[in-house]
Amino acid sequence: MAETSERAHEGYEDHDEHEGHEGCDCGCDHHEGEAHDGCHGQGDGRDQVAMFVVGPIETNCYVYISEDECMVVDPGNSGAKIAEHLPDGVRVKYIAATHGHGDHVGGVKALKEAVGGSYVIHPADVELAKHAGEPCELGYAYDDNAPDPDLTYTEGDVIKVGGAGFRVIETPGHTPGSICLVGEGSAEGVCFVGDTVFQGSCGRTDLAGGSPEDMRASLARVKREIDPHTTLFCGHGEITTMEDELASNPYFQ
Ligand SMILES: [Zn+2]
Ligand SMILES: [Zn+2]
Repeated sequence: MAETSERAHEGYEDHDEHEGHEGCDCGCDHHEGEAHDGCHGQGDGRDQVAMFVVGPIETNCYVYISEDECMVVDPGNSGAKIAEHLPDGVRVKYIAATHGHGDHVGGVKALKEAVGGSYVIHPADVELAKHAGEPCELGYAYDDNAPDPDLTYTEGDVIKVGGAGFRVIETPGHTPGSICLVGEGSAEGVCFVGDTVFQGSCGRTDLAGGSPEDMRASLARVKREIDPHTTLFCGHGEITTMEDELASNPYFQ
């Protein structure tokens, strides 16, 4: 079982920065096993994105806040701790999974019990997510199996959070049900890419349900369809931009 030593930094800030981030620019130190949040303001300067790094393989869990609603993306572990650090007065509307690996959904159950919200995932990964609490192929287990989803989303669906919308594009390859959430409205220029794209790399395709062919097609699609001026919120590692990845990520060349 994962040790949970997350510590979140209080305070959400926003700014209009749209360039690539070298980690967090809020001045906090980010160490292994800790959460950090704040500092990724978007668009009109009102919506905010907070980040928590959770679990044994440092999954990035994001909270997208617009008006009085928020969406938590990929609470991979430590759901109760994430709940404690959500801003006051903001309703959790969705708990959205980019895919069903345990490191992205192991905290769904505890988070949902603490703050509510509709858990949503692609139908092809529902079953996978229900085993998050059991040792995975890599030997890790996360806090809890994910519950049955309240909703599922597929290609073209849009989920709304305050003034923001997130359109689903299906990007199988890492898992059959991997998706990216492409921001619209006040979230324009934001994309949650899960384990499909990483800074300088892409998700592995050698785990159960993975497919190198599907990944190639999905990356080609991302390259074609995601505007270069988009900030990519990846499932692990640094936040990046489409522009930077187009320039330097070997999987986009
Ligand atoms: Zn994964
Ligand atoms: Zn992952």
